[in-house]
Amino acid sequence: MKISEILKKNKITISFEIFPPKAWDKIENTRAVVKEIAKLNPGFMSVTYGAAGTGSGFAADIAKEVKSNGITPLSHLTCLTSTKDMVNSVIDEFKANGIENILALRGDIPEGFVFPDAQHYHHAYELVNTIKQRGDFCIGGACYPEVHPESANMVDDINHLKYKVDCGVDFLTTQMFFDNDVFYRFREICAIKGINVPLVAGIMPITNTTSIIKSVKLSGCRFPEKFMKIADRFGENPAAMKQAGVIYATEQIVDLIANGQNRIHIYTMNKPDIAAAIMNGLSDIINEQS
Ligand code: FAD
Repeated sequence: MKISEILKKNKITISFEIFPPKAWDKIENTRAVVKEIAKLNPGFMSVTYGAAGTGSGFAADIAKEVKSNGITPLSHLTCLTSTKDMVNSVIDEFKANGIENILALRGDIPEGFVFPDAQHYHHAYELVNTIKQRGDFCIGGACYPEVHPESANMVDDINHLKYKVDCGVDFLTTQMFFDNDVFYRFREICAIKGINVPLVAGIMPITNTTSIIKSVKLSGCRFPEKFMKIADRFGENPAAMKQAGVIYATEQIVDLIANGQNRIHIYTMNKPDIAAAIMNGLSDIINEQS
């Protein structure tokens, strides 16, 4: 099923993210994780794509596993570090495997990377154009409520986003954020700019201090004081931090839904217990609509 069809209904839709294993001997573990998360009946499950760009690797296998568990898969695809030919053959592979939804991404710039020649895509909008030409896919794109770290300012970033969407993006998923006011401001800016595709709000449950440091480094997201106090108080106690992180993410989601944001994507980091704890905290809220 196309994700644009799922999102069109504007019912509360919770989706989860899964990353494929780096080595084949871990594939069964990841398949088991998919099975566990699928039991929570998410709207869809996204499957991340390795930045090295060596072909779809195990991403296609995991997307097939998602599908065989009755859940719609969203396959991520990055383009910067692969040649156009390689990227195009992955799109064709997705098509051959019955994948209907692709999140079109540029990928992060690796350290010391020399910006490539005309054999490579330089920005996600080029990938969007190519995906549209190669099949009847539903295409997602990434967006950044706190501005993409490479952009000089929100004006440039939002202009680039508008261009990307106009190339044929059907929905946008946001980078993680920890302050909902940041998202609400971004949602308004999108509306003013005429970016009218569905926005899916990305929520990352921070359940240990190592992942806090990693997330801040990678995303450039800011943590509000409320969150930092929680991390200071519980960071040294793994069980307490996990519980506090689940509650913080759940509260963020409740607030989003109360403010009309029904489409939520949870960066579950292959942790079914965290996904289940959040869904448990939302059970009556989700049931309310059925
Ligand atoms: P783009 O849309 O190309 O934007 C990148 C930068 O270029 C921005 O600063 C933008 O403003 C600028 N820009 C865009 N167009 C132009 C233009 N015409 N001229 C000048 N500047 C321009 N990474 C992975 O490796 N694997 C994943 O699976 C993955 N999943 C992700 C999922 C989500 C929801 C998000 C938010 C990010 C994900 N990422 C993933 C990270 C992503 O690849 C990086 O954030 C990357 O740096 C930007 O990708 P993009 O698709 O947003 O790029």
